[in-house]
Amino acid sequence: MSTNKPPVPPGPTPPQLPWKPVNLWLMLFALVALFWMRDLWVTSTEVKPIPYSEFLQYLKGGELQSISIGSQFITGTLKKPEPDGRTRIVTTRVATDLARELEPYNVRFEGVVENTLLRDLLSWVVPALLLLAFWSFIGKRMAGQGGFGGLLSVGKSRAKLHSETDVQVSFDDVAGVDEAKAELRESVDFLKDPKAYGRLGAHMPKGILLVGPPGTGKTLLARAMAGEAGVPFFSITGSEFVEMFVGVGAARVRDLFEQARASAPCIIFIDELDALGRARGVGPLTGGHDEKEQTLNQLLAEMDGFDASTGVVILAATNRPEVLDPALLRAGRFDRQVLVDRPDRKGRADVLRVHLKKVTLGTDVDPDAVAALTPGFAGADLANLVNEAALLATRRGADAVAMPDFTAAVERVVAGLERHQRVLGAKERHTVAVHEMGHALVAMTLPGTDPVHKISIVPRGVGALGYTMQRPSEDRYLASRSELRNRLAVLLGGRAAEALLIGEVSTGAADDLVKATDIAHDMVTRYGMASEVGQVVYERQRPSFLDLPDAMALDRGLSEDTARRIDAAVRAFVDEAFARATAVLTERRTLLEQGADRLLAHETLTEADLLPVAEAARQGSVPA
Ligand code: ADP
Ligand code: MG
Ligand code: ZN
Repeated sequence: MSTNKPPVPPGPTPPQLPWKPVNLWLMLFALVALFWMRDLWVTSTEVKPIPYSEFLQYLKGGELQSISIGSQFITGTLKKPEPDGRTRIVTTRVATDLARELEPYNVRFEGVVENTLLRDLLSWVVPALLLLAFWSFIGKRMAGQGGFGGLLSVGKSRAKLHSETDVQVSFDDVAGVDEAKAELRESVDFLKDPKAYGRLGAHMPKGILLVGPPGTGKTLLARAMAGEAGVPFFSITGSEFVEMFVGVGAARVRDLFEQARASAPCIIFIDELDALGRARGVGPLTGGHDEKEQTLNQLLAEMDGFDASTGVVILAATNRPEVLDPALLRAGRFDRQVLVDRPDRKGRADVLRVHLKKVTLGTDVDPDAVAALTPGFAGADLANLVNEAALLATRRGADAVAMPDFTAAVERVVAGLERHQRVLGAKERHTVAVHEMGHALVAMTLPGTDPVHKISIVPRGVGALGYTMQRPSEDRYLASRSELRNRLAVLLGGRAAEALLIGEVSTGAADDLVKATDIAHDMVTRYGMASEVGQVVYERQRPSFLDLPDAMALDRGLSEDTARRIDAAVRAFVDEAFARATAVLTERRTLLEQGADRLLAHETLTEADLLPVAEAARQGSVPA
């Protein structure tokens, strides 16, 4: 056995602070020592005072040449030196009237200078110490920090800032989020060699926001980035910024950036940014968040104030991008957003492979088969699943984790998930697949619509059960009437597909209907595209500077008849769109059925996967 020191375990180590709590005691000690030494010096350098009565005798005897009078002492210079060579005498002052009274009695009297050291100590050093102790006690209780350290390191982000210099996580440990990894790779290259990157004058985005549902690996991805680039990783959680003392959060931010700048290239990671970066209140009623606001302002100021070429990349993560203060998302701040989504079936198999490495597996375990059992699971759920399966196998006394353990574990994890999140059943997933394929097929058929970029039945965010992503082929500022009609048909395509294949419509189209109604309403009342209503704008006028909620908007005073005609025209547009979508899909029923099945199996289909479908879809006729 070797007697070497054990290696330092990897993990968060507290950052080195220039200001250690022990310094307080040192300082205190030095102060006391100083007082004491001053006292010693005063008494040793000065001539030993003589009694005042003796001084009076020198005075009366005419032996003094000059006298200087201080507030406590009187110093006299003798005309001729004493036998021992002294030329100066010092006495302590005594009040004049007292001296006059005492003098006739020929008594020896002197003034005394009290030593004030002890009194000083007692009168202010001790109360100060007591105060400090009390303060630190409060600090300890409220902030959960330790003793004087907690007090003196207020604003030094001591216990909260985690810094790691040797991150052992790499991109290989994060699976199923290939798009996010690809987007982050550029910043990794930059961190590896910031100077070479600035060669052509390009600069990196300062802030990258990782957006995605909980447990999809945002925190893991941030650490992996540091591991890939081999740079220090400073992380802090948004909720930890929110402190009891006003100004502490802001000081923390300042400190965080200071430390990061000193160790560039490096990564700053702010987890749960939403806790800190919630939209700031407007009215006095929403006040009371001064501390958060200060912290947020400090963060914004720091982000603006530093030069991206120094090699500091700021990452942040949130699962609620919609509540973030818009100021955070402005150019030069978190202007790049990277979506970290729940994995699809293939992605889940990849995540499982990462985690299955850590357990002893039976030969019957197939990651793809487990992935098929776990639709809707995020990375953290899969990690949890592997652990549950291993626990079950252990309890069983088995040598390896077998497939039945996974099947049983899935049930357990799903039961846990269902408590706080929707997990779709097989039938619902089929409905979602049909719905999304309906959107996609209508989009692929109608000319002039944006190409379908990706369809997915992996639930995204909180509300959406699936999504169809269209990629705009160019920026559009103008839309023609026929384009808007096509857009409406695509929106209604989901519901039309459900009606056609399942024979019944579901609530899944609620969002589509809102969007469709909005577009149709605008077509009628803003763009003058409905002949029954004419080219008159009926848009409700809103005093823009006040930004009133809709209910308070000033109506332009529609007559009842006009209102009825508008409603009818809006409805006509939507109905027509539904009919067109149904016509497209009825003719392509087989394509729809096959596509939905394929989507159900793969969970996501990309533009490339859909190429043959798009080709086939364009063959048939297009309804007017
Ligand atoms: P988030 O920050 O998005 O809520 P985390 O990064 O904290 O999620 O994920 C928690 C754990 O779940 C990770 O430590 C890891 O073990 C596992 N995990 C999550 N996503 C992935 C992934 N994409 N690949 C591998 N493991 C993952
Ligand atoms: Mg996290
Ligand atoms: Zn839809």
